[in-house]
Amino acid sequence: MPALPSLISMMTQLIASPSISCSQASWDQSNKGVIQLLESWLTSLGFACEIMPLPDQPNKFNLIATLGSGDGGLVLSGHTDTVPYDEGRWQSDPFALEERDQKLYGLGSCDMKGFFAIVLDTVQQMQLSDLKQPLIILATADEESSMSGARVLAEQGSVKARYALIGEPTSLTPIHAHKGIMMKRIQVTGQAGHSSNPALGNNAMDAMHSVMSELMTFRKQLKKQYRDANFVIDYPTMNFGCIHGGDNPNRICGRCELEFDLRALPGMSNQSLMAEIAQILPSIEERTGTTIQLNSLFPDVPSFYTPIESDIIKACEALTKRQASTVAFATEGPFLNQMGMETLILGPGSIDQAHQPNEFMALDQIQPMQQVIRGLIERFCLQSHEQKK
Ligand SMILES: [Zn+2]
Repeated sequence: MPALPSLISMMTQLIASPSISCSQASWDQSNKGVIQLLESWLTSLGFACEIMPLPDQPNKFNLIATLGSGDGGLVLSGHTDTVPYDEGRWQSDPFALEERDQKLYGLGSCDMKGFFAIVLDTVQQMQLSDLKQPLIILATADEESSMSGARVLAEQGSVKARYALIGEPTSLTPIHAHKGIMMKRIQVTGQAGHSSNPALGNNAMDAMHSVMSELMTFRKQLKKQYRDANFVIDYPTMNFGCIHGGDNPNRICGRCELEFDLRALPGMSNQSLMAEIAQILPSIEERTGTTIQLNSLFPDVPSFYTPIESDIIKACEALTKRQASTVAFATEGPFLNQMGMETLILGPGSIDQAHQPNEFMALDQIQPMQQVIRGLIERFCLQSHEQKK
């Protein structure tokens, strides 16, 4: 008698439990329902479950479920939240799993509630009473909005294992690196006044022009200085995303704001980049008589890199028969690496379907993912060190 519901039933229940995380408060929801489902299933499989509320958001939770003990072991990690959905652009109810054309449709089907159902279904079919090293299932909060769940775990060093897999949708390709992301706002404050006499004010837009040219020079330097052939776009990028300032042609612009992102390569530090940008600003302030502020729009995500020689990368390359690669999106990988794990990203479903209306996971992704999970558990939790060699 299986202890758990079927894979499809678990996926149905996870998707039916809304857990949207969003920086807009009107969308933001607790992930408690998903955490409770996972806890009850993992407990029935013998895992010891620890549920931890986030310090500054008591309605959001991380879950650490552990089976076995030891100083090595494997973490299988995913996030419990989803992005919001576009009302009216879904062909079916986003919270009701629906199978059509060999695909499972639902919000979070591939990003990434489906992964948990696949992990649980695989684990319950395995004989795990004799683990040599621990198997840990990690379920995090708020990946889609702030990554605060993984950040808290990294700060507290809550998770200990040698290796980790994050099951984000990569179409079953092992991913060992991605760029970091910083999103910043620069605000220039001058003085508004009648346009007929420039001396009546201090034009913030003029000063912003200087800010932008200096940033473009900085961008050019970064491109010259840093290259990484592992990436399709093999240099750090900086994009000016939006600019707002002023109100009328006949008024001196009193205030101007620029928002941009900066995507750094592995090995570059977000903190030093921020410091270098901050250094540019005082001389412009002085020259233009304006006040310039630099702020973060979101907490920075560090770049992610696990050496290609790592055992877990090699093991996943062998299991999937695919070479490890890089992606253009960010994950919780850097935070797991900060806790001392060698982490890789590998999961069922495609990132092309994530964050889209009619998100789905193709049925043909399930079995190969189960093989990967089984292979990793056998290799890193069931075999003793002697057998590995
Ligand atoms: Zn995701």
